[in-house]
Amino acid sequence: MMHCQCLNEFGGAVVGEERADMSVSGTEVLLRVTANGVCHTDLHIREGNYNLGHGKKLSFAERGMKLPLVMGHEPAGVVVAAGPDAGELDKSKNYVVFPWQGCMECHQCKDGRENYCAAPRYTGLQVDGGYADHLKIPHPRYLFDMGDMEPAIAAPLACSGLTTYSALKKVEETLKKAPVVIIGVGGLGLMCVGLVKAMGGLPPVVVDIDPEKRAAAITAGASAAIDGLAEDAVAQVQAAVGGSALAVIDLVGAESTASLAFDVVGKGGKMVIVGLFGGAAPWPLPLIPVKALTIMGSYAGSLSEFAELMKLARKGLVPALPTKTYPLDSANDILNQLEGGKVVGRAVLTP
Ligand SMILES: [Zn+2]
Ligand SMILES: [Zn+2]
Repeated sequence: MMHCQCLNEFGGAVVGEERADMSVSGTEVLLRVTANGVCHTDLHIREGNYNLGHGKKLSFAERGMKLPLVMGHEPAGVVVAAGPDAGELDKSKNYVVFPWQGCMECHQCKDGRENYCAAPRYTGLQVDGGYADHLKIPHPRYLFDMGDMEPAIAAPLACSGLTTYSALKKVEETLKKAPVVIIGVGGLGLMCVGLVKAMGGLPPVVVDIDPEKRAAAITAGASAAIDGLAEDAVAQVQAAVGGSALAVIDLVGAESTASLAFDVVGKGGKMVIVGLFGGAAPWPLPLIPVKALTIMGSYAGSLSEFAELMKLARKGLVPALPTKTYPLDSANDILNQLEGGKVVGRAVLTP
């Protein structure tokens, strides 16, 4: 029997359930879940939509997401069973699961970008995930050894860590030339500051409206921390960068932060939007060609990027998110707390 926390209706609660069949075949692997991070995306899934601005919403139901669903796309676990074609697996090790699994038939999947698959099978989004004591995955190639890390520290690398790393990879060539600007320095932002260092970049300039978060970013290695609400925020950021920015990572994704990112970046610059706060694009269209800007989105990351990230993490070069563990059965309470903005750092469920 498998015990899970399941979402049966959008807008409803996540509730405890039992599942009978956890048998494996072919290349499938069954894991005993040791930790699963609770991501903000889970909150949107429970609600059933994203805010798109202009009074519009993106509905998960209309986009084909099927319920019931066991959420949880930051899982870690130990192998307990594997199909006959899965090969030899070390049952003493704790693994992080790469959750962004694709169809393996489309162009994106064939090019190694399963995270851009048009028919995704993401763990905890399209197929049952880690809000459970057991988790089945289709192939052992999605398992990554976490080395000496605690499962609760390693599990969030599957989404928070990879998302941040992949965004930085998109502007990697700028990191040594000028400080990258990071907007939003909650847990993801602090991880981003640490990763810039691990990638050999100049100390970044961060922007946040919360003075405590700005102070934490300076401690983590940022060269400057600017209040996004300051009237002269753009001038302050550019002064700290030493001119117009070459690259900005927007970890918030609100109209105000996208607007600030657009204003601080210079000609030929890149802005990468990662955050899913929501809203509508605030930029004057003619300035996009005039500044020859590249505006990019970044969603999760690829399998090879995850392999790189896990290599850095096993060497101790990826800063741990502040995490707190909770029992599996408190999943719905944790989502409520996250909704109320009451979770500091990363909440991780440990069955
Ligand atoms: Zn996530
Ligand atoms: Zn695909």
